[in-house]
Amino acid sequence: MADRLAGKIAIVTGAGSIGPGWGNGKAAAVLFAREGAKVLLVDRNRDAAEETAAIIRGEGGTCAVHAADVATAEGCEGMVAACVEAWGRLDVLHNNVGILAQGGAVEHTLADWERVTAVNLTSVFLGCKYAIPRMIANGGGSIINLSSIASNHHLGHAYVSYPTTKAAINQFTKVTAAQYGKHNIRVNAILPGFIRTPMVEMTVVDAFKGKARLDDAERERTITEYLAKRNAQIPLGRWGEGWDVARAALFLASDDSAYISGVLLPVDGGAAGMLA
Ligand code: NAD
Repeated sequence: MADRLAGKIAIVTGAGSIGPGWGNGKAAAVLFAREGAKVLLVDRNRDAAEETAAIIRGEGGTCAVHAADVATAEGCEGMVAACVEAWGRLDVLHNNVGILAQGGAVEHTLADWERVTAVNLTSVFLGCKYAIPRMIANGGGSIINLSSIASNHHLGHAYVSYPTTKAAINQFTKVTAAQYGKHNIRVNAILPGFIRTPMVEMTVVDAFKGKARLDDAERERTITEYLAKRNAQIPLGRWGEGWDVARAALFLASDDSAYISGVLLPVDGGAAGMLA
């Protein structure tokens, strides 16, 4: 255990993972707890959050699981209330949840568009709506929003609602930082690049195969080929992992970033610099 978040109370949304391995939210939740925070693990999939909780408790950390859909007002209001009820305050809100649906402006269904907008963007708004008054009550706080380098670069995929909602998160981050800075509330966004997470493996890679069901060997080969193709576009020569994004979140959550707000921080091995 270290102490960069000693005494802090944090909420991590999407603290589970959609598949085996380390997603961004799961890694951030574990890292926050290692650094001394008490962490409320929020996920609509209770079992996924319980897996993260077992890791944290196994390492001697402190956490609680809260099942909720953060795309709803009740979900966000309830998670903030649960956090305050458990530990009396809220210092860090890590708005990590994000999903994607395939298809461009023509192929997207209205239902896809509305679902992705609700989960990616409305969740960030609602999280802030209910968290900021609590943070003001305890003298300030840090909010971290998960965007993507897809917010300001075309990555070659047809998934129109994903980059659009992530671009909106960028501006939401800046205007919210500007408005609530006087209350010592910092709001920053992380723009991950190519991160090898279950989300990439399960959603993107399967989509490239036309949603065909792959056996384990085909799946591993597909993933390996996809990763290798991208490596040339990443100056540091490797895909990121959930821990790379989590370490940036830890910095933004901690007092090490006490004078940083309204920033859009790429965590991408330099990839954005290579893109148009
Ligand atoms: P993940 O897909 O593993 O999901 C984490 C958890 O979120 C899951 O357990 C899932 O149940 C939960 N979840 C989904 N919708 C929810 C909802 N409405 N309410 C509550 N919980 C919900 O994701 P992750 O790896 O933790 O990271 C996701 C974030 O990182 C997203 O915002 C994503 O857009 C962003 N990102 C990822 C990459 C990448 O390359 N992997 C790149 C850029 C940005």
